[in-house]
Amino acid sequence: MTFISKTPTVGFVSLGCPKAGSDAELILTRLRAEGYEISPSHEESDLVIVNTCGFIEAAVEESLDAIGEALAENGKVIVTGCLGAKGDTVRTAHPSVLAVTGPHALEEVMGHVHRHLPKPHDPYADLVPAQGIRLTPTHFAYLKISEGCNHGCTFCIIPALRGPLVSRPVGDVLAEAENLARAGVREILVIAQDTSAYGVDLKYRTHFWGGRPVKTRLKELCEALSSFGIWVRLHYVYPYPSVDDVIPLMAEGKILPYLDVPFQHASPRILQAMKRPASAENMLERIAKWREICPEIVIRSTFITGFPGETDADFEQLIQFLEEARLDRVGAFAYSPVDGARANDLPGLPPETVREDRRRWLMQVQEDISADKLAAKIDSVIEVLVDEVDEEGTIARSQADAPEIDGLVYLDGHFAAAPGDFLQVRVVDADHHDLYAEPVGQGRVNA
Ligand code: SF4
Repeated sequence: MTFISKTPTVGFVSLGCPKAGSDAELILTRLRAEGYEISPSHEESDLVIVNTCGFIEAAVEESLDAIGEALAENGKVIVTGCLGAKGDTVRTAHPSVLAVTGPHALEEVMGHVHRHLPKPHDPYADLVPAQGIRLTPTHFAYLKISEGCNHGCTFCIIPALRGPLVSRPVGDVLAEAENLARAGVREILVIAQDTSAYGVDLKYRTHFWGGRPVKTRLKELCEALSSFGIWVRLHYVYPYPSVDDVIPLMAEGKILPYLDVPFQHASPRILQAMKRPASAENMLERIAKWREICPEIVIRSTFITGFPGETDADFEQLIQFLEEARLDRVGAFAYSPVDGARANDLPGLPPETVREDRRRWLMQVQEDISADKLAAKIDSVIEVLVDEVDEEGTIARSQADAPEIDGLVYLDGHFAAAPGDFLQVRVVDADHHDLYAEPVGQGRVNA
């Protein structure tokens, strides 16, 4: 009689931000490296891992629901991610889960997997692509350079969930980026809780990449990443003077002229109450300096309206800042209390309707600025990266657009293109967020 042993199969659900997605990719990569199958179906899996988010109340509920669903459909569930770090929340709601870990806990998660679903005897590690298993489309990828955060913003519980800053050695980061570029990734999105702090904990120690010494510091990392000839985009950067060092790399075309700087507010009083990093910097002066060094720089930011203590005058100051700064891309959130955050103890929380009205007003102001800035691009030739091609047309992004959070470039006409292609296009129209264009050439502009 022949026995056919079934390959141990793991179901996987990942919720939350790109940083959580990056943790998920590490776990999936290790699972495949050890020979486990990954299945989209809870019923067909031997156990399910749920990677949770615990940032705001809605995310907590979504995570608890996902765990409940996995328990109902499979019964064997390991929970990891930010919600796992929040005391007994998971065990109180779902006492039957097999194990709970916090975020960034690859070894711990794998330990629980091995305990409940022994790994196959002879794993074929070479079945795993060198770039690992990715949750993003094949042409762009997030590159997490550090974990944790040394700041103490009063609205945020990430330092409590993820611990202090731990930078990855630059050699490891570059080896991962190199594998991604070799595998066809055309855009790398550099992420961390605070990208500008990269290497501070390691005192900018020198590591080696391809036999060459490289300092564990943002500027040196960006220089090295630029050698792959693909788009490199920086997210979650704070306006420290040291960031000025990477702007010339943007001016020279080595990395994208794009900076995602979460300013969150413009009133010094509110920034102080938020305890934001670099809150004492004069932001308008710093932006002016960046534009002087790299006139085409695109600045993206996020803001919170209705933070505890925000008065009409504070909000007016924020609007004035937006009108003067004329940022390219802006997202706004009405303040929502996060369980465990110190801001909950601050007095003067504006009513929910005021918080939301201010958010809408801010977005209205920004929409006009955005429409003006995009209209100025009409008739210019820009470089885009194709994201999607189907029977309805081709959708791409310009250097000014990060995936999922910024605008799109809709392409008209008949031409051959596939996701991951670089095209040169002429902009023919614009609205508040997106551009409309027609292709004029293949490949990168000035490549
Ligand atoms: S910088 Fe502030 S908002 Fe960002 S992770 Fe650190 S504490 Fe949270």
